[in-house]
Amino acid sequence: MALRSGADGVGLYRTEFLYLNRRDLPSEEEQFRTYRLVTEKFGRHPLTVRTLDLGGDKFVSQLELAEEMNPAMGLRAIRFCLRERDIFKQQIRAILRASSYGKVQMMFPMISGVGELREALAVVEEARSELKKRRITFDRQMRVGIMVEIPSAAIVADQLAREVDFFSIGTNDLIQYALAIDRVNEHVSYLYEPLHPAILRLIRRIVDAGHDAGIPVAMCGEMAGEPLYTYVLLGLGMDELSMNATSIPRVKRILRKSVAYEARDFVGGLLAHPTAADIAGILVKKLEDLFPEERF
Ligand code: PEP
Ligand code: MG
Repeated sequence: MALRSGADGVGLYRTEFLYLNRRDLPSEEEQFRTYRLVTEKFGRHPLTVRTLDLGGDKFVSQLELAEEMNPAMGLRAIRFCLRERDIFKQQIRAILRASSYGKVQMMFPMISGVGELREALAVVEEARSELKKRRITFDRQMRVGIMVEIPSAAIVADQLAREVDFFSIGTNDLIQYALAIDRVNEHVSYLYEPLHPAILRLIRRIVDAGHDAGIPVAMCGEMAGEPLYTYVLLGLGMDELSMNATSIPRVKRILRKSVAYEARDFVGGLLAHPTAADIAGILVKKLEDLFPEERF
């Protein structure tokens, strides 16, 4: 469906589904076969596999996670994987093995800084040596990136950018943590504002840090698939947008009718405004002028 909708690859392949609705854990072999199947379907297009992001709002029964007062800030995602290294390394080996069959890249969720990133990269090195010992082939150039979805990662993005091959901005969590808005709490959902000037500044900071270091910057949070934000994201310099298949045609239509340097100029002015409401008002007016046939 993604290919039919015009996708040029997979920007966020969530792997949690492999762990859901079962009692045991998926084996390396099962994971390898799943990733291989998907990458073969996408041919020369990249498949970006995100390593396990359990915890927070995503739970499974077979891993007995302790009940936490505040799971969004608890033992989740990369933190859980660095605690349960065998599960983590097994998944990395499966991803590496699949990389022989297509254009696979891997990214870690919830990286908070360079120390944690280096720990995760060390596990990748171990997985590589184990496969070499087993004489199993994999793409030695497989690109490894991180999701930037914690404000601390955005703040040290320049340091992180030197150690990875790409960034992918996870706005669902980045907005949650930057604005202190629980993403699943309906009582504060009115404060969940992608156009908050702090969020736009954070995105710009991440993009600039990535580009200064010569790496591409993608976005894979829901914000990337919302046509209202497409022109702004283009203006912020985003290299890739990842979204649900159903959003692709509309977002592509807007991108094709946009001029990147004009969007950049417009966004430069937008960033001077102090509230999300001001920014939204100006943005909608601009979009109605530029794309009268679209609805925002
Ligand atoms: C995000 O946080 O923006 C993201 C893409 O990941 P998830 O929604 O799975 O946390
Ligand atoms: Mg996330």
